[in-house]
This record gives sequence, structure tokens and C-alpha cells, in this order.
Amino acid sequence: MNPLKQHRAWSRLALICLVVAGIAATATAQDAATLAKLAKEAHAKFKDDASGKNADYIPALAKVPSQLFGLTIVTVDGTVINVGDVNTGFSIQSCSKVFTMALVMQESGASAILDKVNVEPTGEAFNSIRAIEEGDGRADNPFVNPGAIAAVSLVQAKSAQERWEKILACYSRFAGEKLTVLDDIYTSEAATNFRNRGIAHVLFNSGHLYAEPLECTDVYTKQCSVGVTCKQLAVMGGTLANGGVNPVTQERCVDAKHVPKILAVMTMAGFYDGSGAWAWSAGLPAKTGVGGGIVAVVPGKMAIVGFSPPLDSFGNSVRAQKAIQYISENLGLSIFGPGK
Ligand code: GLU
Repeated sequence: MNPLKQHRAWSRLALICLVVAGIAATATAQDAATLAKLAKEAHAKFKDDASGKNADYIPALAKVPSQLFGLTIVTVDGTVINVGDVNTGFSIQSCSKVFTMALVMQESGASAILDKVNVEPTGEAFNSIRAIEEGDGRADNPFVNPGAIAAVSLVQAKSAQERWEKILACYSRFAGEKLTVLDDIYTSEAATNFRNRGIAHVLFNSGHLYAEPLECTDVYTKQCSVGVTCKQLAVMGGTLANGGVNPVTQERCVDAKHVPKILAVMTMAGFYDGSGAWAWSAGLPAKTGVGGGIVAVVPGKMAIVGFSPPLDSFGNSVRAQKAIQYISENLGLSIFGPGK
């Protein structure tokens, strides 16, 4: 091709690229505007819903102001949408279980979870001992307390300190920021977690806990006491939505091949014995915590996080579930299909 023709061809290509980029940018901006509008609507609609009550079996959680309510959406292109009390740190509690599962899979492969913990929903409360006894002795799945403590025991470590540091470093990578423990929550839970200590001993006795029971319970209690804001938890969820790469820092936190398996367990067991109703209404992989946080993942698109302390009878935040459900329904985000 002569140089003039070649120059024209390149110019045309550059122009096409600019137009396509412009269209993409406009679409993203519109999507962000729609998301922001829906998040605002959801917050306004449910902020005065006073149903449910704070968890009080961990005494420090009963003292968290019940009216707090924050919502954050983080999209896979790194857009952040915040509404309400998004700067208040709260304890991650059982939302942490997702990320310890990811760490174990990354270190030891998916089979470490499937074979040594199992991935079956229990239909029982999060701290059920009966569920262990009724199964084959394994901990059922990594999102109930027995399975989460078993997952902690599978983190490759020579000491409690190393086990804890690996977990905290992993969470911080997912959040894209250095996270720390909320000491008042940790002290309160560590002084009262007799049931979890019992669960660890039952599992150890049947050969389904893979490190010292009290060490694992303590590290598990610390991981549940990690403080997060809505945005930090939403970036953690956004990393899963983005195939394992943090959408803000661009760091890979878990191999892409593990993500669908993590999301599958979130779909089936993320809401404990409320998982069926959640799949029915919101249709999203999600994980709840008794601190009032919920992280929901829309694969390939975004994470939606809600935080509000009052819980329903299954231990799931009332306002956060209603708000996420509202956004999901309005945008047809269910992984089972838009239904319209
Ligand atoms: N740390 C809490 C416990 O072990 C977590 C429970 C939850 O968030 O569902 O009871």
C-alpha cells in the first residue's frame, strides 16, 4: 500500500476506535446513572423499615446503632456508587467466609474444599451442630460455621500467626486496601464463642478439622471481626464479579477457574436456611453476615453491598436484603434470567 493510502487507512481506523470508545463511555455513564438512581430509590424505600433486630449473642453487635444503613455498588470497570452510611466500618462476620474459601482454593486447589469440607447446603442455622452429625462428619459447606472453621484449618500455615496473617493479607488484596480487626468486636466474640469452640472440637474428633481446634476457632473469630466499609466489601465482591481481578487495583486475587465454584456455593448456602427464598427473590450469589452486611455478586457486571444491623430470624440483614432485591428485580439481574 502506498504511504498516503496507508495513512488514510490508519486515520479511519483511529476514528472508528474513537467512536466505539465514545459509545462505550456513554453507555457506562448511563448505566452508572441508572444504578445510582436505583440505589437512591432503594435506600429511601427501606431506610424507615424498622423490622428485625441486631444480633446480640455477640454482645458488642447489640450496641451498633440499628438505624445505620449503607449501600454501595462497584462495577467491574471500577465505578463506585455510594448511598447512606457507607463510611461506617462494621464487622465483616460471615461475609469473610467467601474469601477464606478463595484462599484455600488458591493455595490447595478446589478439591481441598470439595473433599475436605464439602459443598452441600444444610437448610439449618449457621451454627448448627446437628447438621454435622446428620451428614458424613464433614462440615457440609464453607459458609456455615463448621465449614468456615474447617476452611481456616486448611490454610497452609505453621503457626496461628502465619495462618492469621495470610487470611488478613488475602482480604486486603480483595479490598484493595489494608484491612484491620475491630478490637471491641473481637474481644466480645472471643469471650463468648463457646459454641464455635464446641463445633471445632466435634469436627476435630471426627477427623474433619485439619489443625488445632482452639487455634482455628480463634483465627476464625478474628477473621469475622475484620472491619469493612460498604465500599471495601463491595470491591471484594466486585473482584469476584470481575473473574478474580480487583476492579480498582487490577490485582489478581484468585484464579478465574475458582470463581464460578465460589459463586455456586454462595447461591446455595450464602443465606443459610434462607438461601432458597433469596435465590427466588434476588437470584444472585450472595453472602450475609450477622454484623448486618450482605455482599451480592452479579457475575461479569458488579457487586452490590448493603449494610444495616437489624437481622431477620435467619441472621440476615433486613434492609440490606430488601434493597439488593429491589435493585436486582428492577434491572433483571437474576442469574436465572431477567423474567421479563
Ligand atoms: N462470627 C459469627 C459466628 O461465628 C458469624 C456468623 C454470621 O455472620 O453468620 O457466629
